[in-house]
Amino acid sequence: MGFLSVLSYAHKLVEGRLHSGGIAVDATAGTGADTLFLAKTAGPRGQVFAFDIQEEALKLTRERLSKDPSDRLAEVSLYQESHANMKTCIPNEYHGKVSVIMFNLGYLPSEQADKHIITLTDTTISALEASLDILAPGGIVTIVLYPGHEGGGQEAAAVESWASALSMRTAQAIIYRGIQRPNAPYLIALERKKPL
Ligand code: SAM
Repeated sequence: MGFLSVLSYAHKLVEGRLHSGGIAVDATAGTGADTLFLAKTAGPRGQVFAFDIQEEALKLTRERLSKDPSDRLAEVSLYQESHANMKTCIPNEYHGKVSVIMFNLGYLPSEQADKHIITLTDTTISALEASLDILAPGGIVTIVLYPGHEGGGQEAAAVESWASALSMRTAQAIIYRGIQRPNAPYLIALERKKPL
């Protein structure tokens, strides 16, 4: 049967934390697959904030949401902004109440996309810092990392070292990785602890 893929494992973690009426963030909207998943999971009383720097990604996300037949999606707010600015974009009333934040790093996986537009180490780390500020206690961040493409290995190493250095009083960090394939995507997840 095999282990769950990295993306399925991220979804599994999210399903355990995001309940009906919950608040979630897709930090890298891309083609909108995770945004739609979060909107379905949070349901009509929920709220999802999704970020991408590319207009093309927001267009694909909007299309995916509008084509979905469900009338039970959360309200979704889309921002053409860097995820590093999530704390400024997401209204203060939601800070400390976000259950789940998903990152899927790398480039936009669509045919027309410019594969040179990728997530970058500095903005990714700033966004992860901001995530810890807006998460609810017990809320989680999932980060899918792609060491196999140019720039991806350095970004993955930086995220791993940042997450390893977090105090256990701030967040617990775990890793889900196929250890025989060093270039394959892998997952880091964080759980926010209660502030002291
Ligand atoms: N989760 C997406 C999906 O389901 O299709 C895939 C995300 S894709 C691997 C990574 C996305 O991150 C790209 O669409 C890219 O434009 C976006 N991105 C790059 N830098 C960013 C930044 N600073 N802030 C937000 N999004 C960014």
